Amino acid sequence: MSTISQRFEQIRARVHRTAEACGRKPEDIEIIAVSKTCPASSIEQAVAAGARHLGESYIQEAVEKIQQLSGLAAIWHFIGPIQSNKTRQIAEHFAWVHSVDREKIARRLNDQRPEHLPPLNIILQLNISQDPNKQGIAPAGLEQLAAQIVEMPRLKLRGIMAVPAIDLEESELRRQFRAMNTLLTGLQTKYPECNQLSLGMSGDMDIAIECGSTMVRVGSAIFGSRPGR
Ligand SMILES: *Cc1c(COP(=O)(O)O)cnc(C)c1O
Repeated sequence: MSTISQRFEQIRARVHRTAEACGRKPEDIEIIAVSKTCPASSIEQAVAAGARHLGESYIQEAVEKIQQLSGLAAIWHFIGPIQSNKTRQIAEHFAWVHSVDREKIARRLNDQRPEHLPPLNIILQLNISQDPNKQGIAPAGLEQLAAQIVEMPRLKLRGIMAVPAIDLEESELRRQFRAMNTLLTGLQTKYPECNQLSLGMSGDMDIAIECGSTMVRVGSAIFGSRPGR
């Protein structure tokens, strides 16, 4: 069985290969190692292998691990669904949030971001497959939410994210990823620092990179399969 450090190295090499094969710079693509449900010891192995960005989805276990690993030079990304009563912990412990999809949540994160920390980096989650059971704002509401967030001084609008429906045909997946890229380009014209496309997971990271992803969120391909939840 391969170790976490070997698998992280393989993912890094794969990002490099895929980027070069489609004429992109490998350094323009950040790997977010998604460590949800993994123990702190696994995270230490990934960081020792070179992981700098870590992604978590469940606030309680995330905060415990962040506190336990406070000596690590790691940048923490919150990527899970956000309930309003959890915004304070997110604002206090994370550098990036990929799952903001409504003004109320953004406003709370802005109000609760501690003064001694830099503004919280915000990525807006889109419901690109327009699935009523999925998180995320509809593309039609994106401009308005973006305009509200850029007025919030303790937040910094940085990009957009989506989790496509599972089992899409590859052609449809590419179509949705490209539509995300087009939406980002539109936002970036207005807000130059809004330049991150958070797309791609263990199963579709190559396609996401080919469609312009700048942040791939990779869990099981690094840490192994997770227990069911
Ligand atoms: C769990 C999760 C990932 C990682 O998924 P893998 O398939 O294990 O790579 C990425 N993004 C989000 C939003 C997740 O919840």
